[in-house]
Amino acid sequence: MIRLSEPIIDKTTLAAISEVLMSGQLASGAQVEAFQERFSTIAAPGTQCVAVNSGTAALHVALLAAGIGPGDEVILPAFTFAGTANAVAATGATPVFADVEPDTALINLKHVDSLVTSSTAAIIPVHLYGNPVDMTKCMQLGRKYGLFVLEDAAQAHLAKHRGQPVGTLGHAAAFSFYATKNMTTGEGGMITTLDQSFAERCRVLRNQGQIHRYEHTVPGWNYRMTNIAAAIGLSQLTHIAEWTFKRQDNASAYEAMLPKNLLIHRDKRDEHVFHQFTLRVPDGDREQLREHLKRYGVQSDVYYPTPLHKQPAFLTTQYLPGAEKLSKNVLSIPVHPSLTPNDVDYVAESLISFVNTSHTTAIGDKGET
Ligand SMILES: *Cc1c(COP(=O)(O)O)cnc(C)c1O
Repeated sequence: MIRLSEPIIDKTTLAAISEVLMSGQLASGAQVEAFQERFSTIAAPGTQCVAVNSGTAALHVALLAAGIGPGDEVILPAFTFAGTANAVAATGATPVFADVEPDTALINLKHVDSLVTSSTAAIIPVHLYGNPVDMTKCMQLGRKYGLFVLEDAAQAHLAKHRGQPVGTLGHAAAFSFYATKNMTTGEGGMITTLDQSFAERCRVLRNQGQIHRYEHTVPGWNYRMTNIAAAIGLSQLTHIAEWTFKRQDNASAYEAMLPKNLLIHRDKRDEHVFHQFTLRVPDGDREQLREHLKRYGVQSDVYYPTPLHKQPAFLTTQYLPGAEKLSKNVLSIPVHPSLTPNDVDYVAESLISFVNTSHTTAIGDKGET
């Protein structure tokens, strides 16, 4: 079976974990400090980094540090992981769903503009699948209305917009280190920002609202990262650049082999880091294609089958055609760095054999999707 994702853990990682365990300093300490420091040189250069125990916690703390709470509206794409909206809801603010562009699967900034009200406090652009949002336009929109812009970079470690790394483009950003992400700590997250006092507020919020030992200035949480997780993260950081190149290489190979109408568009001036390599399969063909790939031993999955405005937790009466269509059409195939060139050829050939044998499909035709 060619799997959709495989975390890579090497011997140095095991050694680093043992060292933490033997040291007796398991909670937040030296490894967490070192991980934050290294993340600010490798992934989000020049930023202040605040490590937390999940990507959702990173989003939540960043929103709180921006002063967002009950009565505020926060605009985010309807087509994203639920964690983006859950973090908004956790602050007491209202998530407001913008549509996504059907060809890029990224937030539709024109639609965002039309959703802004006097209660809007923030926008969360999501770099979905590792494909960066046009942050130049997003920041222009943020400035136009005086909004806080929080990048959801959970899937986009090392991605770049016009040469600038994600995590350095908005007022703040949230990364995730969940097991399937481009780099992992098991569970974990990071807030990045160029604003020192914002970072300081985040540090206080992640640690019970504590500014000095047993002096609590605001209500806070326990969102601290452990030294065990940070030791894994430090080891992962030494590989992330090489792993990213491999993802991009695998993706380029797919792009050269597969029918163009199956591909999600990306801006060639930006750097997509392919957390997922996602296809748009014409209406009605997706389940058959999944079955076909399964017979060939190729795992595939749907991110995400239901847009957030159709979820019971966040139900609205909106019609969001981009999100609704993509949720029916998207299919992600393996692109992770452990694939060999043979694996990539095999996956592409499996797909092409479906295109060639399918009678009902519009795959391979020009217009569809
Ligand atoms: C993974 C993910 C999150 C949440 O991260 P966790 O570490 O799982 O809490 C948020 N947004 C997006 C887009 C994600 O992919």
